[in-house]
Amino acid sequence: MDLTFHSFTPLGFELPEPLKVLERLSKNFYWSWHPEGVELFRDLDPLLWNKAEQNPRRVLSEANQLLLWQKASDPDYLAKLDRFTATFDQYMGEPPAAESNLPGGVAYFCAEYGVHNSLPIYSGGLGILAGDHLKSSSDLNIPLVAIGLLYRYGYFRQDISHDGWQEEHYSNIFNSGLAIEPVVDVSGQRTSVMVHIRGREVYAQAWLARVGRISLYLLDTNVDQNTAIDRMITGHLYGGDAETRIVQEKVLGIGGVRLLRKLNIDPSVYHLNEGHAAFSTLELAREWLGLNPDKGFADAVTEVRKKCVFTTHTPVAAGNDTFPPDMLIQCFSKEFIDSLKLNNGELLALGRAVLSDDNEHFGMTPLAIRMCRSANGVSEKHGEVSRELWLKMFPDLSDAGSVPITSVTNGVHAPTWVAPAYQSVFENHFGPDWANLVRDSEKWSEGIAGFDDRKLWEAHVLLKNVLIAFIRERTKRRDTGTSDTINERTETSNLFSPNVLTVGFARRVAQYKRWNLLLSDRDRLLKMVDHPDRPVQFVFAGKAHPQDNTAKTILQELMSIDHESSWQQRAVFIEDYDQEVARYLVQGVDVWMNVPRRPMEASGTSGMKAAMNGVLNFSILDGWWIEGYNEENGFAIGDESESDEPDDQIDKRDALSLYETLENQVIPTFYDRDKSNFPAKWVEMMKNAIATLTPQFSSRDIYNDA
Ligand SMILES: *Cc1c(COP(=O)(O)O)cnc(C)c1O
Repeated sequence: MDLTFHSFTPLGFELPEPLKVLERLSKNFYWSWHPEGVELFRDLDPLLWNKAEQNPRRVLSEANQLLLWQKASDPDYLAKLDRFTATFDQYMGEPPAAESNLPGGVAYFCAEYGVHNSLPIYSGGLGILAGDHLKSSSDLNIPLVAIGLLYRYGYFRQDISHDGWQEEHYSNIFNSGLAIEPVVDVSGQRTSVMVHIRGREVYAQAWLARVGRISLYLLDTNVDQNTAIDRMITGHLYGGDAETRIVQEKVLGIGGVRLLRKLNIDPSVYHLNEGHAAFSTLELAREWLGLNPDKGFADAVTEVRKKCVFTTHTPVAAGNDTFPPDMLIQCFSKEFIDSLKLNNGELLALGRAVLSDDNEHFGMTPLAIRMCRSANGVSEKHGEVSRELWLKMFPDLSDAGSVPITSVTNGVHAPTWVAPAYQSVFENHFGPDWANLVRDSEKWSEGIAGFDDRKLWEAHVLLKNVLIAFIRERTKRRDTGTSDTINERTETSNLFSPNVLTVGFARRVAQYKRWNLLLSDRDRLLKMVDHPDRPVQFVFAGKAHPQDNTAKTILQELMSIDHESSWQQRAVFIEDYDQEVARYLVQGVDVWMNVPRRPMEASGTSGMKAAMNGVLNFSILDGWWIEGYNEENGFAIGDESESDEPDDQIDKRDALSLYETLENQVIPTFYDRDKSNFPAKWVEMMKNAIATLTPQFSSRDIYNDA
C-alpha cells in the first residue's frame, strides 16, 4: 500500500507561462459553477476533458504539449483566461457580508460532500445538497467553514454485468489528481487531531478543499502513526459495519470540533447536517465542562444547545443511524465518558427516543435533537412526519404539532444546475446578475413571463440533442454482450430521437423509490413506447446499495426487458449515476419522473434542478413537490389523501395514476403542436415551471433569515 502523501499531485511538467494561472484556478472549485471556468479547462483538450472525467488537475498534467502551446499563443483564449481570472480574484477579495450577525461564523458538518465529480466523496442527495450549500454560502458570502471526511476509496462506481447484475468497484481517489491541499500550521507541520477510538489514539490529518470563498476541511485517518485498521476508518463512504460507522462518526464529530480549535475557529453556530456528526455535541460539552469544572452535564447541555442546529433528512425510523448500546460504549473511552460527568447508562440515554426502554439502540437523531437548539426537516411534509416520528421523545407533549421540529425546504444552487445555454438566455434577459435575482420571486417571474417562447423551446431542443448525443456516446463505450438489452447494444447510433417525448428517471434504487411501478403493467407501458405517432422514450440511471440484493434484482429486471418492441431503441440505462450524468439528464429530458411511496421522499432535489431547466416534473405529491406543484408547472401523480391501505394496494393505485396521467395529460400536451410543430401549451408550462420553481427552490441564507 502506498502510504506516502502527496500534497497537490504535482504536475509532471511546467505549464507554458501564459497558462500558469490555470494551476491556481484549478485549486478552487469556483470554476465548476461558472460556464466560462469549465470552458477554460475543457477547451485545452476536449477529448481529454471527458476522459479525465472533467478533472482540471488531470487535464493540466496530461494535456498534449502542442495543444497547450497552441492555447498559450491564442489571443482569444488568453483574453478569456484574463477575464475569468479577474472575476475570480475580485470574487475572492470581497470581504464577508458586513451585516452578518454570526461572529466566528458557522461550522457546517456533513458526512459527504458533492462539490464536483473530481472530488468523489459523496453518494447522493445528502452530499449534493451539502455541496450546493457550500457554493450558495460562498455566493452569499456567509462566513462558513465546512467539516467532512476524506474517504480514500470514495463511494463505489457502478458497472452492470452482462447478465444485468450491478457490480461495484472502488479506486483510490488520490490516483486522480485531487484539488485538495494539506493543512499545515505556521511551522509547516501537518495539522492533525487525535481521537480516542477502540482503546487507541487515532490520528486524523486535515486536507483543505476550496469551494469559492468557503473552506472545506476533510479529515483523513490514513496516516503512518495509525494501525492498518485505523487507517481504513476513513476508507469508504457508507462502507463497513455499525462499528465502522461509529468510529467514522467519532472522527467527523469529535475530530471535527478539535480541528476547528486547532485552526483557532470558534463558531457561533454548529450546523449538523444529518445525525452523522452529532457526536460533536458531546465534544462541545466535554470542552465546556473542562472550562467549568464545578458545573454538571445538564449545564453543559444548556450551553451547547445555544450553538447547535440540526437538520434531519430521513422520514423513517430505520433510516436513522442507530448503534447497539454495548458497541457504542466500547467505542468510547471511560475517560471521555467521565469527563462528561456521565455514567454509561446516562450516555446511552442521550441517544434513546424512549428513556424507559433500556434495550433501545443508540440513535444519532435523538442525540442531535436533545443537544441542538433547533431541529428541522427538509420539506413542510417532512417536518410534519418528523414531528410524528419523534413525538415519543417528548412524553410531556400530547400532540405531534408541538414537537419542536420545524422545516426548511431544501433548495439547489442554480448556477451549478442550470445549463449554460439557459444561463446565457437568463443573462441576456436579466443581466449578468441573474443568479442573485433568482431569489426575488416577483422580479424573476415577471421577467420570465416576457421570455420569447420560441427561443426557450430552441434552447431546450438543443439541450435534448446534447443529451441524446451523450446517451449514444456513453452507451457505446461498453464492452457489449450478445443480447440487445437496454444496457448492452451492438449499435447505439440509432438510439433515441429528439422528436420523441423523453422521460428521465434517475435516483437511488431503494424500495420506496418504486422503480418497478412503471414496469407494473408492461403491455400498457410498451404500448406508449411503441405508439406510431406519439411515442415515449425513457432514460434511467441510479445505484443500488451494495448490500441490497432486492434493489439489484429490480435493476436486473429492468435490464432484461427484451421485447418485440421499440423498447431497445427508446429506453436506456446510464451506468454510474453521478453529478455529471445528473446534469445531462436534468437539462435534456422533457419530463422528470418521481414515484416515491409517500411520505418517504423527505424532500428530493433532482426535480428542482430539472424545473430550473424548463423540464416538467411528473411526480407523486410528496416532499418538495407538494409545495412546488401548482397545476400549471408540471404534473401530479395520485393525490395527497392519506390512506391506511396496505402498500401493494397503494402501489396499484399509484401505478394506475402514473399510466393515466402519462396517457391523458403528459403525452397529449407534449404532442399538441401548431403548424410549425411548436408545442405552445408545453412551452407555457415550461415557463411556468421556471418562473415559479426557480425562486422557490434556490438555496438561500438560512442563518440570517431566521
Ligand atoms: C440531485 C442529485 C441527487 C438527489 O436527488 P433526488 O431527487 O433526491 O433523487 C442524487 N444524486 C445525484 C447525482 C444528484 O445530482
